Amino acid sequence: SPNSGYVGRFAPSPTGALHFGSLVAALGSWLDARQHDGEWLLRVEDLDPPREVPGAARQQLATLSAFGLHPDREVIWQSQRSERYAEVLQGLVQQDLAFACSCSRSDLADFGQAHRCCVRPFDPNHHAIRLRVADVTLSIEDRLRGVLQQWPGRDSGDFVLRRADGPFAYQLAVVVDDADQGVSDVVRGADLLDSCARQVLLYQSLGWTPPRYMHLPLVVDAQGRKLSKSSAAVPVDADDPVPALTAAWRVLGQAPEAAPRNGSANAWLRAVLPHFDWRRIGQGEFLDRSLTDPPP
Ligand code: GLU
Repeated sequence: SPNSGYVGRFAPSPTGALHFGSLVAALGSWLDARQHDGEWLLRVEDLDPPREVPGAARQQLATLSAFGLHPDREVIWQSQRSERYAEVLQGLVQQDLAFACSCSRSDLADFGQAHRCCVRPFDPNHHAIRLRVADVTLSIEDRLRGVLQQWPGRDSGDFVLRRADGPFAYQLAVVVDDADQGVSDVVRGADLLDSCARQVLLYQSLGWTPPRYMHLPLVVDAQGRKLSKSSAAVPVDADDPVPALTAAWRVLGQAPEAAPRNGSANAWLRAVLPHFDWRRIGQGEFLDRSLTDPPP
């Protein structure tokens, strides 16, 4: 790892072309890593084959490359990491920190906090595996928001680490991968803020140290929904990266005059980097349409 100790990453799910909301997370994590003299990694979160769009991962990587966002190490593919996830999961089950469960979502709602289902003997190929979640509030720290209280026992209860139909859950994979890759700083969209407590609980159960977190503003459509490709007002065009980079810079709350209006993606990134100030990043959401207005 780098001398600074900073390791950051961008971890897209290959559910389609890279959209503008994802570009904000990619750019924000890249700028923060570069400014800290850190490493920046890329990870393809291809855990859930049914939700994947064939070719989307390769296309996302090509788009990032056209935008000048190059990883410092080889790209990791979560679909190649099942053995490692199984090993970590087995450790949790052996320590009784995780357990097999045959409950449906509605069973769980009926149980509420009393849920302590335990299938014995269990068949890991037919039962979900859940983490035992104590009914305590947890303090998590976000660089922009300070200390936040979350109550995972109420919000998610004993949550799934591996689904009954096979796939490992995002929550497990993201923690194992970030820890194995030595990620010190997770910089990602604020839609993942409410996953934070579950991830910190997993770190605690595993006896590992969680990373620092910073959650970036979301870009939403007029109905307040997270941006999808079809609704994006700002196209992420690999042949013309500067307009989307400039709009992403605005979402990150950065000084508009620092961003070149034309030139190559690499020249644009070099020009803005010294001006990036993470303290200027806001906590709110951005209306997608407002980004196509001229800057103030
Ligand atoms: N793969 C997740 C997503 O695209 C992001 C995971 C993360 O940054 O923790 O929403």
